[in-house]
Amino acid sequence: MSPAQFPLASPSVRPRVRFAPSPTGYLHVGGARTALFNWLFARHFEGTFILRIEDTDLERSTTEMVEGILQGMQWLGISWDEGPYYQTQRTDLYRTAAERLIQSGAAYYCFCTREDLERRRAKAAAEGRPPKYEGTCRKLDPAEALRRKSAGEPAAVRFAIPEGGSTSFNDAVFGKVEFANAEIEDFVLLRSDSSPTYHLSVVADDIDLKITDIIRGADHISNTPKQVLLYQALALAPLPVFAHVPLILGPDKTRLSKRHGATSVMAYRDEGIVPEAFRNFLALLGWTPPEATPDSIGSTLNTFARIPLSACCPLLRRNGRKRASSRPAATPNGCSQPSTFSNLVLEA
Ligand SMILES: [Zn+2]
Repeated sequence: MSPAQFPLASPSVRPRVRFAPSPTGYLHVGGARTALFNWLFARHFEGTFILRIEDTDLERSTTEMVEGILQGMQWLGISWDEGPYYQTQRTDLYRTAAERLIQSGAAYYCFCTREDLERRRAKAAAEGRPPKYEGTCRKLDPAEALRRKSAGEPAAVRFAIPEGGSTSFNDAVFGKVEFANAEIEDFVLLRSDSSPTYHLSVVADDIDLKITDIIRGADHISNTPKQVLLYQALALAPLPVFAHVPLILGPDKTRLSKRHGATSVMAYRDEGIVPEAFRNFLALLGWTPPEATPDSIGSTLNTFARIPLSACCPLLRRNGRKRASSRPAATPNGCSQPSTFSNLVLEA
């Protein structure tokens, strides 16, 4: 089923959005803006704002970082209605989803060892080919694969990308985005230790939590075709609306990082910045109020609530959900261009 035929969540349904940080680092400026935009969207349309902690990277996730994220959100006044849900407590959901995909033929067992994969990757690199999984185990007879798996042979689960064609979605900010399926690898859903990968857990959670609109950073655009294909294969829910927000860039036009002096949200508190000013600053990164004067956005939550958010940015415009026109990338309708950031701006 192509995305054009796939039903979108009905605009009449109250939106359910999520902020889903990984506790592998602090809540930084980019994450805080994503959280704020989701929160504004939920509050404006009387929807539900869900907090989900994506802590499946056991080696890098820490409870200290979880605490820091929660504190940062509380300091900013970004309150959540559901959660926090922790992905490490939801692995049964992901394994069940993988089972369904195997049963329907949308996924298959892969018995390739790490050494096999590394050897093939090195060979591809030496021959100047992209390091893409070649589909070796996709050719196995499913009954034989199941027998091997049942006999205890370690196996990952891979998604079978459709052969030929393309996968596209209508992004509420970037317009139509399309990827050739030939460029997408048969990606892993469950590792051989049966731990879920990012794409599987995100889509299984978004379906389970009935997420209607996914507002996140534009660095996720390349993940989206895989997730659209997973939605379609699981076919349990309408495709959500995707709205990818341009990344916050440093003055040198590279992604904002520690190099630019960007630190945790709490570091700004420690410097004496008040949360109202910080929220105001975040809101104006990628969004322009109808009257572009600093006073028009105000500095309190009440003022935010009175602003006709729907007037400006397509991701905050509920009827924008159905917008299907093709639009050149990086020209958000009515939004400011990808923003630059410096401490001078914040301190002014
Ligand atoms: Zn394999």
